[in-house]
Amino acid sequence: MIMVYCDICKKKMDNAMTDRSFFYYANRSICEPCKDNLEFNIKTQIRAKEPFAMDWYQKVMRDTLDRACQKGRV
Ligand SMILES: [Zn+2]
Repeated sequence: MIMVYCDICKKKMDNAMTDRSFFYYANRSICEPCKDNLEFNIKTQIRAKEPFAMDWYQKVMRDTLDRACQKGRV
């Protein structure tokens, strides 16, 4: 059995493989609650930004993810 740990909250995801309850973003594995929080966080940042730019969006994704991994939460 493969052990998967969330890169944000560092929790072990017991049934990650069978439940497909982990996600892979930019070389990081992320559990479902952290993914939801991350998406919500990014969504609020995106709605505040006008005009929208794809480059910018990718940067926000990366920065938000890096920050979340460092802090241990989104
Ligand atoms: Zn997590």
